[in-house]
Amino acid sequence: MIALPFDNRFVAELPGDPDDSPRRRQVLGAAWSPARPTPVAAPRLLAHAREVAALVGLGEGDVRAPWFAEVFGGNALLPGMRPYAACYGGHQFGHWAGQLGDGRAITLGEVVNHAGERWELQLKGAGPTPYSRTADGRAVLRSSIREFLCSEAMHHLGIPTTRALSVVTTGEDVVRDMFYDGHPRPEPGAVVCRVAPSFVRFGNFEIFAARGDHENLARLADFTIDRDFPHLRGVADPAARRAAWLAEVCERTARMAVHWMRVGFVHGVMNTDNMSILGLTIDYGPYGWLDDFDPHWTPNTTDAQGRRYRFAAQPAIAQWNLVRLAEALHPLFGADEPLHAALDRFHDVFTAEYAAMTRAKFGLRDDGEATAALMHDGYLLLHAARADHTNFFRALGEVDAAPADDDAGALALLGDVFYDDAARDAQAAALAAWLRRWHAAVAAEPADARRARHHAVNPRYVLRNYLAQEAIDLAEAGDPSRVLELLELVRRPYDEQPGRERFAARRPEWAREKAGCSMLSCSS
Ligand code: AMP
Ligand code: MG
Repeated sequence: MIALPFDNRFVAELPGDPDDSPRRRQVLGAAWSPARPTPVAAPRLLAHAREVAALVGLGEGDVRAPWFAEVFGGNALLPGMRPYAACYGGHQFGHWAGQLGDGRAITLGEVVNHAGERWELQLKGAGPTPYSRTADGRAVLRSSIREFLCSEAMHHLGIPTTRALSVVTTGEDVVRDMFYDGHPRPEPGAVVCRVAPSFVRFGNFEIFAARGDHENLARLADFTIDRDFPHLRGVADPAARRAAWLAEVCERTARMAVHWMRVGFVHGVMNTDNMSILGLTIDYGPYGWLDDFDPHWTPNTTDAQGRRYRFAAQPAIAQWNLVRLAEALHPLFGADEPLHAALDRFHDVFTAEYAAMTRAKFGLRDDGEATAALMHDGYLLLHAARADHTNFFRALGEVDAAPADDDAGALALLGDVFYDDAARDAQAAALAAWLRRWHAAVAAEPADARRARHHAVNPRYVLRNYLAQEAIDLAEAGDPSRVLELLELVRRPYDEQPGRERFAARRPEWAREKAGCSMLSCSS
């Protein structure tokens, strides 16, 4: 086994639960509970991300060593690890849900790497903890592969996210009712090791506030500032420091939401327990990627009625969640003003960044009213014509010559980006006219320069739902090769990758209603 330099500040500096049994309970007055991973029958490494291994000080030799699957499957601990489950609450689907906590996540420890960066190693699916409520603490292979691949895909797209070190299969089955239709069945189990500077969520603060435990609320806030926002240590006045911190949380959350809107990512479960205090994308569950541009789309079947977490609602939901965080932190300020100032920061940053992002997506530089109208009309047409979000924008970057005068000729510039011939034909004239307008607006810039700018924000490859599902189907049948190939694919999402064009194809017809490809439940 290897010796990694652990420095477990969360458990060293914040109050812990004296009970170290996994008995399900309400945990008061503590930020965490001791929790050991429950060993599994036959841990085997399915995939790992080499960049993440390097980040935490592990070489390829370490990953191949037999102890790796033992440790990251939950059967052994490295010296210096102090495993725990965090206590948090949350607002789920708009309602306060009380104590939730790490019901199947167990942090192993905090590694400080050669560059001085702190990385928390956390297993997901490692067995029950005091927060598991009625569930088993386990995770199925399909959701583990989805979390592993998407974490890395998001990172390489330039989006703040938790990372993923590994997927280890357990050799044990986990029983899940995938469609919540009364037909539970055994599925292969797995454990993912996620990696982030911190896994603290809005809900970690909310739970102390809800219980009136203002002392621990303050301790957690000041700990978080000191450990994870060290650049704020220089703000001498404690109240000003906390205010600057909350404003920064708002700003980071705004930037994250802008990125999601840029690439067509739908988180699916934006409950406050799934919102990172660092503004990282966290907790990959029934997430999805837009195929045809539909602002109302949600991948989450549990949310199909209200569509609270649909694509277009994400910025407003992020803001709603920040208001819940600000409310929870109110006792630390005793005044409304700093909270309002922080929430204003969300609005200001989001508004400015979103406008800049959409301009970049369309390859436009001018920020006048004509540009705004052009983009607005573009989005309406994308929706009406049922065009693929990713491929439409990528195709725009390839447009060189002026669109032809005939509509079919103009549309040919976009290639095969439409899902429905009738919808495309109905919009053909409007789309062609729009393309001519758009081209006139961008034509002054040399095509090469425009293409380079354009392709830097419009990915060629995203982890489309059907692609992940194909990889899962193969892995469940014993062949992990597609998982590994998709991992390679998502490492360079903005580059053309000769031989991998098929992974850029819009969703095939067979995948339209297939489970896992268009809709997902929270069952994982
Ligand atoms: P999620 O919807 O995945 O964010 O989970 C919400 C809450 O349910 C969190 O407290 C999770 O830890 C808990 N949870 C989800 N799945 C399981 C499971 N299989 N076993 C124990 N707790 C779980
Ligand atoms: Mg969660």
